[in-house]
Amino acid sequence: MTNTLFDALMGPHRGSERVFLILPDGNALSYADIDRLSARLANLLVAEGVKPGDRVAVQVEKSPEALALYLGCLRAGAVFLPLNTAYTAAEVAYFVGDAEPAMVVCDPSREAQRAAFMGDSPAVLMTLAGDGTGSLMAGAAEMDDVQEPVERGPDDLAAILYTSGTTGRSKGAMLSHRNLLSNAEVLTDYWRFTADDVLLHALPIFHTHGLFVATNVLMLAGGAMIWLAKFDAKQVMSLMPRATSMMGVPTFYTRLLDQPGFDHALAGHMRLFTSGSAPLLAETHRAFEARTGQRILERYGMTETNMNTSNPYEGERRAGTVGFPLPGVELRIMEGGAEVAAGEIGTIEVRGENVFQGYWRMPEKTAEELRPDGWFITGDLGLIDEGGYVSIVGRGKDLIISGGFNVYPIEVEDVIDRLPGVLESAVIGLPHPDFGEGVVAVIAREKGAELEEQAIIAALADRLAKFKQPKRVIVVDELPRNTMGKVQKAALRKEHEGLFAR
Ligand code: ATP
Ligand code: MG
Repeated sequence: MTNTLFDALMGPHRGSERVFLILPDGNALSYADIDRLSARLANLLVAEGVKPGDRVAVQVEKSPEALALYLGCLRAGAVFLPLNTAYTAAEVAYFVGDAEPAMVVCDPSREAQRAAFMGDSPAVLMTLAGDGTGSLMAGAAEMDDVQEPVERGPDDLAAILYTSGTTGRSKGAMLSHRNLLSNAEVLTDYWRFTADDVLLHALPIFHTHGLFVATNVLMLAGGAMIWLAKFDAKQVMSLMPRATSMMGVPTFYTRLLDQPGFDHALAGHMRLFTSGSAPLLAETHRAFEARTGQRILERYGMTETNMNTSNPYEGERRAGTVGFPLPGVELRIMEGGAEVAAGEIGTIEVRGENVFQGYWRMPEKTAEELRPDGWFITGDLGLIDEGGYVSIVGRGKDLIISGGFNVYPIEVEDVIDRLPGVLESAVIGLPHPDFGEGVVAVIAREKGAELEEQAIIAALADRLAKFKQPKRVIVVDELPRNTMGKVQKAALRKEHEGLFAR
């Protein structure tokens, strides 16, 4: 029997005593260890009534067992549905109601929230750890560690992953075995991962980046991962000498740069640093290179498509860009129904085996964003320069049209962020009686800095064209972020919607 994704990920390693996970306390688990645990978990899922195609919703902290559960779900033919550990009981209740899983798995610390978690769902509720009757680990200990993977083909669903909810309610992206496998194969090759790699893995595994990009790629390569529950700059630094590579988000890099001892002596031996999920400031890119001699490789992806583009492994990694479309991924920039010329901004569309199967139980939304000929309208705005490098200039929903002119928030934010006393900024458009939308800058100040609205507006006057200049400035201590750390512009727009009302 074949199980497309599981066979590719674990097939070559079954019974292998090669190191798979390295834990911060120095302990290690082999491929065979995780294989056996995932077999026991798969047997238990089947015994608990989980059938091929059933969803298994999982909200647990990162651990080796959590990874084994992902593989156990694949093995049992179930659809893995991870949930952000920051979600509250009420939020989980929404996802459980939406996805109708056959089983919900939580940590023992959250068991008390059972009722709220479950709403009126008929799903079986289990904890991952613990020794109670509802514990998967306790149950797995009683199971056989041999299990033939349940038959699953390339077009069967392997996972449903909810989007980060930056622009609105999270949507469940349906990902097939083929979607995940094809992208992982391309990335393994493109980024040259081999069995000699040891990846510093400090990303969460409820998100596409840590789960599919990092884990699937390392398994295909047969490498090892230093498995960290959370990103902690000092801990990451202490383990870096054992690693060959790290995949991160921009905040990992800014936090490492905040550490005095982070330098070439520590990071110079690393083969690869990648960044994605949010824009890496050109400034961070340059500071990192100055300090370590390493050029971070930035790439662009999303829940619905895994990875779309990457800067080259060899060749120029161009700061401020996300590189080239990956092999097998087509990418085009569209405006008014046609492709734009090089260097012009439009909506990014992608097509390829990486593109998802649609949003779970949202046929209208799916039809709006997924064209019948396979092109997915990402909602991101970007351009392709003469050299073929793709840049992201923001999200379509954040584009401001003021007095008939397009204002790209990222351009204004870049200028504001360089002013003294500014930590970071979010530029938004608010309804304006004369201009349609008025440009507004919400600025987070550096600790102790005094920022004054009129002074900032005056400072921007000769740095930005008139139509791009903020008409109002709001100074705050902190920008609102969602659980993935992304700035919530929709929330800011809502909070200040009446600012220009007459
Ligand atoms: P939602 O779709 O629910 O609003 P989301 O789009 O933030 O949330 P994700 O799928 O986690 O959910 O994020 C993908 C988005 O992250 C991309 O569409 C893009 O806007 C942004 N992104 C990813 N990588 C980069 C990058 N390297 N540079 C700029 N933006 C990036
Ligand atoms: Mg999105």
